[in-house]
Parts: sequence; C-alpha cells; structure tokens
Amino acid sequence: MKQGMRLEEQALSHNNWQELEQKLFLRTFSRLPLTLVRGQGARVWDEQGKEYLDFVGGWAVNSLGHCPSVVVEALEKQAKTLIQTSNQFYTIPQIELAQLLIENSCLDRIFLCNSGAEANEGAVKLARRYGKLRLNGAYEIITTHSSFHGRTLAMTAATGQNKFQEPYTPLPDGFVTVEYNNAEAIKRVTTTQTCGVILEPIQGEGGVNVPGNGYLKEVQDWCHEKGILFILDEIQTGVGRTGTLFAYEQYGAEPDIMTLAKGLGSGVPIGALLAKEGCSVFSPGEHGSTFGGNPLTCAAAYATVKHIIDNDIPGKVKRVGKYFTTKLESLKQEFDFITQVRGRGLLIALEFNREMADELVTACLRKGLLVNKVKPNALRFMPPLIISEKEVDEAVDILESVLMSLRA
Ligand SMILES: *Cc1c(COP(=O)(O)O)cnc(C)c1O
Repeated sequence: MKQGMRLEEQALSHNNWQELEQKLFLRTFSRLPLTLVRGQGARVWDEQGKEYLDFVGGWAVNSLGHCPSVVVEALEKQAKTLIQTSNQFYTIPQIELAQLLIENSCLDRIFLCNSGAEANEGAVKLARRYGKLRLNGAYEIITTHSSFHGRTLAMTAATGQNKFQEPYTPLPDGFVTVEYNNAEAIKRVTTTQTCGVILEPIQGEGGVNVPGNGYLKEVQDWCHEKGILFILDEIQTGVGRTGTLFAYEQYGAEPDIMTLAKGLGSGVPIGALLAKEGCSVFSPGEHGSTFGGNPLTCAAAYATVKHIIDNDIPGKVKRVGKYFTTKLESLKQEFDFITQVRGRGLLIALEFNREMADELVTACLRKGLLVNKVKPNALRFMPPLIISEKEVDEAVDILESVLMSLRA
C-alpha cells in the first residue's frame, strides 16, 4: 500500500472529500465546491445537510427527479432477481424496454448500450454499414457546428466544436461539418460519399439552439431524396424533455436512426440506438456490448419510460416549461442585460450580453439553487420533468434576487 493511501480513514478524519478528489482524479471536470450526498424529487442535500433545488438534473438525466420510487422499486426488485447475463442469452427486461420504445416511436429495431457517445458510435457504424452495403461504400456523415455528440474519438470528430477536437488531432476521418439550422449547407456538401446526416433536434450542449420549424423536415426530405440516412441524436431532447416523448414529433419529421441516453434511465447509465427496418443492416457479430441491455439498467429505463408515458409527463413538461419560460421572459423585461430566453419544454437557456454565467452559477449555488453554465454568457436549465410550478417560482425568485445583486 502506498504511503498515506488509507483513503477512507483519511477522508473520514479530514472530512474533506473535495481535497481528496483533487489528488486522485485526472483533471477532466471543473467541479463546483459542493459535495452532494442525497437527493429526493427536485432537491438534493450536501454533507452539511444544506438543501438545494436542482435545475441541473444530472445534465438532463434525472427525468423523474432524484430517487423516484417507481425506479427505486424496479431496481430493488431486479437487483434481487438478475443483474447481468451477457448478450449471449435472452433476458426479459431488455425485451420489455425494446417493445415499449418501439411501440411509442417511429422506429422498428433497437440496440441497447451504456451511454450517449456509445449510442452515437453505433449509429455511425450502422450508417457506414448501410453505406457499404447499399450506397457503393459511401461513408461520410454530415454534422453541424456547435453540435455535441459525445467524447469518444469518433464522436469528438462528429462534434462540431473546435475546443473538443483540437487537443486530440488527428481524429477519425469521415465527418463533414456545416452550419446548423441551414438545410442548404447540408445540400451543398452532400456527395456520392455521403451515407448520412446527424443532427440534434435542438442543440443542447452547444447552447440550447432551437432551429427554425421547417429545418428538420427539409433535411429529412433531402436525405430521402438522396437515399442517405437521417440520424437524430435525441440523447438530450428525448424521453419527454422538450414536451413530447421525442422532439422530432414537434417538427413533422421522422428519423431513420435515433439515439437516446441521458433521461432514459432516470440516472442509471443506459443508451439506445433505434433504427427503421429498412436500414437495420447489422449482421450478428458486427456490433455489440458487454453491459448493454443488462436487466438492471433496463428495468430502471422501463420503469422511467412507462411512468412518463402513462402519466403524460410530456404534457406536463409542455405546461410547466411554458410557465417557466413566461417567468424568465418577465425577468428579461426587468433586467436589460438579459438578451434572450430560448428552448422547448424543460430545456431552456437564458442568455446575457456579457460573460456572467460563472458568477451567476456561484451566486445561485450560495442561495440554494443549482444551475448550469452552457456558455460563458448563458445559463441552461434542465430540471427534473416532474418539477412543479411552485418549484419554478422558487427557482425564479432566487434567480431574480441574484440578478438584482449583480445589477447593483
Ligand atoms: C450528453 C450528450 C451526448 C453524450 O452522452 P454521454 O452519455 O455523455 O456519452 C451525446 N449527444 C448529446 C446530444 C448529448 O447531450
């Protein structure tokens, strides 16, 4: 044992987890000075017992809030029954989840994995397989600036943001990046080498960028005309977040391939790749996963999606999202340094005319509200989908008092 490595004792005696983390971890995250130990509904608590209203929601993951009883019960039951088997065998929870997602979407087949990046990797592999078999070997995928598709090398290449790419060049080949919300730009770079287009219905990580109403449909129609695949990354927008079960429903467009992750399992790591029958061209052995589709995460995801559908959570998201947006619009009237409120459902950004997001995040934290900085000059709100209007009031009151103190 290395000297001074009796970690648990050390941590308990110092009671300083944050100092310990700084020593132990690769420096990938700039974390806020807050150690969370417990959560319930839209609230979380730190080690001193201080309560916070959570408008980060695990980065749009905690769809049903923290420790929702339907998910906890499903996990408890499944953990006592069967946790993991490998995909060498059939297991029931993954088939139940598959059926639920397929019956409630425009897609026909599914592959289950463990994260968003992995779901998108699968989508790109499927599109390349399709290109090889049906499009004379076409392999290029068109992506957009300010997109976010994940952290693997290929998804870093697909992500149209230089800050993620530059540290890791050379990146895998085969991605062409064009302006978002501009169907003409996609048309201009489509060649016989193109096998698909990947888009977020609303760009999340890139700043909650909402495209024009006709964009997705126009890109879909173009893809169909050219015989290439229209891929929607609904990892952040899917499973009720924007006020419909999937965001594409609001745009009159249907993807050939769709990826899900974040909100799908209420916090357990699970991702999914769904495809229409016509492009489901994988053969056995061409793609796979050890943990993907394991009974435990699938039981949690099934409980999540079933609850969301049975209780019309998307309808609630639409109402509460509108309520929240209206309140933010009145803040915009009150504070001239707020330049824009944008988003759909409960994926909302508030933009400022100066780089004040860090300051705001810290000030809100002190007052018991957790929010996310999506850009130096913009905040992003992704609260649990079950948030009440009263909790929105509470958050807006805190935000207002913080904005007042910064104006003064
Ligand atoms: C978060 C996110 C991803 C990556 O998901 P991970 O689970 O972190 O790999 C991909 N696409 C979108 C749109 C996302 O929001």
